[in-house]
Amino acid sequence: MATVAMVSRASSAPPAAHTGAKEETAQIDAKGALSLLAAGNQRWVDGKPQHPNESSARRSEVAGGQHPFVVVVTCSDSRVPPEVLFDRGVGDIFVVRTAGQVIDEAALGSIEYGLEHLHAPLLMILGHSKCGAVQATCDAVDKEQHVEGAIGHLIESITPAATKTAKVKPGRVDAAIEANVELIVESLPERSKIIEELAHEKKIQLVGAIYDLGSGKVKQLD
Ligand SMILES: [Zn+2]
Repeated sequence: MATVAMVSRASSAPPAAHTGAKEETAQIDAKGALSLLAAGNQRWVDGKPQHPNESSARRSEVAGGQHPFVVVVTCSDSRVPPEVLFDRGVGDIFVVRTAGQVIDEAALGSIEYGLEHLHAPLLMILGHSKCGAVQATCDAVDKEQHVEGAIGHLIESITPAATKTAKVKPGRVDAAIEANVELIVESLPERSKIIEELAHEKKIQLVGAIYDLGSGKVKQLD
């Protein structure tokens, strides 16, 4: 259906580039969601963003209800804004961000909401290169330092990834960044009955990925 709608519009509407033109995303499945993300990320890498779904018409359209095609859980780092690096607009991406994409109960509830109530077919856990939260955790583990306060809670949550990769040389922090994503992906169905059931019923796909700050490229993990 989405394809037909796009084709019929193409005859009268200008190309999407520089117009913020609408794209059908409400009926997309996980595979389609991954394709949209891959295409948008490639535009970002190439320096040719089209800024889809950023028009005032889109704003009005989604004011009455949202149908995001993906839940992206990523780091609060100012260099990792999902809408920018996937070249998407309003109503497209349900975003959960914390330092090191640590998932506490509020974050987990937000993810469940995006999947169960908004019916997003894809859940992406997105780490990134040079993540300060993971770097700090590796330092704390290596120097056996205890970090106080709420930052200590972040460090504690990332510690299994830092410990698992303690002997990796060189590239220890990069390995910990990947391990952090992998451990989150593995743990989510165990932590959330909703995610476990949606995944079991094949209503959602759960993927891990790493964003490279320098190249702008998102690499999906196997
Ligand atoms: Zn980070």
